[in-house]
Amino acid sequence: MKTVKAKTILQNMKYGNQWFGSDYNMNLYRGCCHGCIYCDSRSNCYRIDNFDEVTVKENALTILDRELAYRKKGVVGLGAMSDHYNPFEKDLEITRGALKLIEQNGYGLSLETKSATITRDIDLFKKIQAKHNVILKLTITCTDDQLCKKIEPNVSIASERFKAVKQLSDAGLFVGILFTPWLPFITDTEENVRTLVKQAHEAGAHFIYASTGVTLRENQMEYYFQQLDKLFPGLSDKYRQVYRGRYACNTLNKNLYKIFEQECKRYGMLYKMQDIINAYKKPRGIVQESLF
Ligand code: SF4
Repeated sequence: MKTVKAKTILQNMKYGNQWFGSDYNMNLYRGCCHGCIYCDSRSNCYRIDNFDEVTVKENALTILDRELAYRKKGVVGLGAMSDHYNPFEKDLEITRGALKLIEQNGYGLSLETKSATITRDIDLFKKIQAKHNVILKLTITCTDDQLCKKIEPNVSIASERFKAVKQLSDAGLFVGILFTPWLPFITDTEENVRTLVKQAHEAGAHFIYASTGVTLRENQMEYYFQQLDKLFPGLSDKYRQVYRGRYACNTLNKNLYKIFEQECKRYGMLYKMQDIINAYKKPRGIVQESLF
């Protein structure tokens, strides 16, 4: 793991707060060692060298403390370009330190991860939620643990992530599933969609948000195809034939998203972005009422 000094930490959201209502975004780490074969953050456009090697911003908490003091209160997003529960976080506690600052300064939180380590910080999520809005997301792309180990090799398997959702939900936190990406010819099956929504419901998820494709950009695409050649021989050629260099590859099964919607409705699960935002950003009085 490398270290680097940061100049700033909090960034305004570029296109408003459409992504789960976040007003700010921040990355305390650069790069990620979780090894997901499809990771979009590996794309050249983000200019992260040696993406699989984690770099920690060693002065991140000092800067964040300063920035939170003068910014307008809002929801701080974590986890867009790097998973903040990487293996180093256990000892470094940079993410935990940032959560403490968010709580002390009265901001809200929108956090996404693939690691069950998130449950370590339940105490802080509850404290933050007592003052502002909190939304937690576990990314789960398939329900088959063996397949999960192949495509997301260095992070909690799907069943462990569902257990984490249950723990967070039982603790009274607003938690749901990020069901993205859908990998054509791998995870975009009816069985995976139906099982994933059912298991999300059983785990007490409040919502499940899906995006039906995978991006294929410079550097990320080459890495993805290399991994496909190792794990699913012949599949990269199929991608080349079908998608012909397009940047976004959506599932070829046009009915699959409809099935996803039907299953969400069947279990009474929120799945549209605006509905999810409205639900977790309840006026404070209503949130307090529901807590008691
Ligand atoms: S956990 Fe997220 S950031 Fe890390 S490799 Fe996987 S997709 Fe990329």
